[in-house]
Amino acid sequence: MIGKNGRLIDVVIVGAGHGGAQCAIAIRQNGFAGSVAMVGREPEPPYERPPLSKEYLAREKSFERLYIRPPGFWAEKAIELLLGTDVTAVDPAAMQITLSDGSRLTYGVLIWATGGDPRRLTCPGAELGGVHYVRTRADCDQLMGEIDNGARNIVVIGGGYIGLEAAAVLTKLGCKVTLLEALPRVLARVAGEELSTFYEAEHRGRGVDLRTGVAVAGLEGRHRVTGVKLADGTVVPADAVIAGIGIVPAVGPLIAAGAAGGDGVLVDDYCRTSLADIYAIGDCAAFACSYAGGSAMRVESVQNASDMATCVAKAICGDGQPYRALPWFWSDQYDLRLQTAGITRGHTEAIMRGDPATRSFSIVYLKDGTVIALDCVNMVKDYVQGRKLVEAGLSPARAQLADATLPLKSLQ
Ligand SMILES: Cc1cc2nc3c(=O)[nH]c(=O)nc-3n(C[C@H](O)[C@H](O)[C@H](O)COP(=O)(O)OP(=O)(O)OC[C@H]3O[C@@H](n4cnc5c(N)ncnc54)[C@H](O)[C@@H]3O)c2cc1C
Repeated sequence: MIGKNGRLIDVVIVGAGHGGAQCAIAIRQNGFAGSVAMVGREPEPPYERPPLSKEYLAREKSFERLYIRPPGFWAEKAIELLLGTDVTAVDPAAMQITLSDGSRLTYGVLIWATGGDPRRLTCPGAELGGVHYVRTRADCDQLMGEIDNGARNIVVIGGGYIGLEAAAVLTKLGCKVTLLEALPRVLARVAGEELSTFYEAEHRGRGVDLRTGVAVAGLEGRHRVTGVKLADGTVVPADAVIAGIGIVPAVGPLIAAGAAGGDGVLVDDYCRTSLADIYAIGDCAAFACSYAGGSAMRVESVQNASDMATCVAKAICGDGQPYRALPWFWSDQYDLRLQTAGITRGHTEAIMRGDPATRSFSIVYLKDGTVIALDCVNMVKDYVQGRKLVEAGLSPARAQLADATLPLKSLQ
């Protein structure tokens, strides 16, 4: 077994999720012949996370169909997997990491790809049984167990993508879902008002009791949650609670080792942290995103984790190029596929293309006249063609953008 004595491994990847897996794959694709190991806290080989709040929760896809590569792939490519193992400390001077069993590994290059842990509720009752988060397969299996055991009144706290997707699936499964959002609208951090209004109406139309601008005062129950108490004293009955209130980047050991960071680990254009020979990628890495005016931010998406991973793999193999990929994202709720390109934050104008009543439309976001992002609902064509407007930073006439009969490619 590797690592027990601090044996040197050329490339050590911490985190066996989307970014870690793609990095290992790309390193081998780029012809790297040295030793590669991936250390991951979860017991499973790398799997896709997005289906956890979609097809997996809906039981439309088995877990075996979520593997990023068949389990045998990693050994075939001489990528050591150390699963069920946490990295607890980093010693940049010795170029070593400490594993949860106390053993050490020595690295030539370290890639930190740890994503984030769900932000926990801190209100009274947060520790009661029946309170769930959705980040890992284990989280999802526990939640599915509740439904199997008859939980029907589900309260979802948080109106971001994960909360909304879970609400959609559970409603389809016959649960009575109440969704509580503290801000005045759902998706407030990631989308414009028009999109929030559309999704709020969709969920309400399907029977979700969706309440915005409500503060949770605490969870009620003796051992298990039985209700969610709101700030106005109302109690919403709950057999189970799902909290989807964001993530906390899993960067403790790296920051303790001296890496620069705040909300995540800061990386430069090549995904390098401030510590020598240590890169960071994916949800845990904050970088100067050129699609958000160059301000340091973390992007939580499969695209970002995969593209940063590819960027680092190339750098390690001697073909380093700055990370400049266009951020994109998707979300599935009911029969609606949302596709987003770019970062909507900071937009000064939102232009509607098409009629939301048809459930097929796009919203083009402008900043000072320049297209910075698009949200496309059941509108693949606009998404594909509109990406180019964002990438090129074009400023088409507003009337043309608003004319849904004009293909966006004609505005490039
Ligand atoms: C339910 C759900 C639905 C989503 N849906 C979408 C979607 O539709 N579209 C989209 O683009 N994105 C979606 N995302 C986001 C997407 O999954 C993440 O952006 C992506 O997984 C980030 O990849 P990553 O490698 O940075 O982190 P992860 O994939 O989270 O992998 C990090 C891994 O590192 C492990 N780890 C953490 N700390 C340590 C440590 N100290 N030692 C060892 N291992 C450690 C973690 O346990 C985890 O397994 C969704 C996420 C969730 C949870």
